[in-house]
Amino acid sequence: MKKQTQLQTRAVHAGDRKADPANPGGFVPVTTPIYAAASFLYESTAQLDRVLGREEPGYCYARYDNPTSTALEELMTELEGGAGSLACSSGMMAVHTALLAALVDRRKTVLAADALYGASVSMLTKIVEPFGVEVNFVDICDLEAVRDQIQKTKPGAVLMETISNPLLRVGQMDRIADLCKEADAALIVDNTFATPLLTRPLSLGANLVVHSVTKFLAGHGDVLGGTITSDARHVDVVRSIARTIGPGLGPFESYLAMRGIKTFPLRMERHCNNACRVAAWLATHPRVSKVHYLADPLHPDAAAIKRLLPEGLYGAIVTFDLKDAGKQEVFQFMDSLNVVVRATSLGDVHSTVLYPLIASHRDVAPKQRERMGIHDGTIRLCVGIEAVEDIIADLEQALQTAS
Ligand SMILES: *Cc1c(COP(=O)(O)O)cnc(C)c1O
Repeated sequence: MKKQTQLQTRAVHAGDRKADPANPGGFVPVTTPIYAAASFLYESTAQLDRVLGREEPGYCYARYDNPTSTALEELMTELEGGAGSLACSSGMMAVHTALLAALVDRRKTVLAADALYGASVSMLTKIVEPFGVEVNFVDICDLEAVRDQIQKTKPGAVLMETISNPLLRVGQMDRIADLCKEADAALIVDNTFATPLLTRPLSLGANLVVHSVTKFLAGHGDVLGGTITSDARHVDVVRSIARTIGPGLGPFESYLAMRGIKTFPLRMERHCNNACRVAAWLATHPRVSKVHYLADPLHPDAAAIKRLLPEGLYGAIVTFDLKDAGKQEVFQFMDSLNVVVRATSLGDVHSTVLYPLIASHRDVAPKQRERMGIHDGTIRLCVGIEAVEDIIADLEQALQTAS
């Protein structure tokens, strides 16, 4: 696919419909098949020798690569505008592998945003740090604090999310990328909440962009996967780690992920439109004391949002506080929902609701949680692609029961 095509076009064309090198002149399937093969056969041992020596393109062993996953990787490279991608067995595997790739030849110090996906925090504090890597956290929306911490701690990698969970904070990614470049730190961006429809971090100066494909990209709640898309400097090191330790996604999952991604721009637009309507409606409801949404002109990061995100595309997540509510009222509200699904994921076609206190922020001490702005009545909603009237009607009747 040519680079100048629009994202919507690339999403349905990139990666697919390539002639099979082993069968020149043969039929070309319009959709990349599931290649369930652990190894590959060659016409001659000399050819296998060239493929293993990477003098000739080709597949030899599924830990190195697989044609179905290659198709997904090409698709993601086109969507994120990178030099190459790796499909991983989960979003967390993508974050971890990206971190390894960033630190291989850099200082073993990480500076991470203090608002990160829960498992990313656990990975840093329970796995990465015990291996002797220094880990520090910073308020990623405070550019001066980020500058200070980069100077003080000299990180080899900086890890941030485009849009944080669950309070939807947005850091100044392009300026942070400049600071990282000056300090030779790799900037790793988790772009799961934004998707390439809202932001392409590599174009803003990030070095590695990771996704949980499980969420909006695959979108149907039926596959666990992740991806890393790298700039030119990191493509080979990511691939070399992958060939050695095998974090790659299997061909069945790659097929499902790719099938989902073809419609992700369409779904994401609708997620965003529905979420805008739901956020505006919630803000007027007497049982709701606070709504966090990126369209809010009083959002603490409004300037960054205006500068970095396209107008009208503000994501699917709406976080709100149920007025004077504790566990009991929130449970009542959640148990009364009929359309919105109580699930610990997000990014599915259906709306989902999550209670951070018992899920993503369960292990955070209550005092710290309060300091972060996550209260006992805070609820995270991921607005799906249903008819928005039905979502609002469902929320309305559930809010009535929770008073
Ligand atoms: C879900 C999620 C992950 C982890 O992805 P898995 O596919 O569950 O491993 C990482 N980052 C963010 C922002 C997520 O929402």
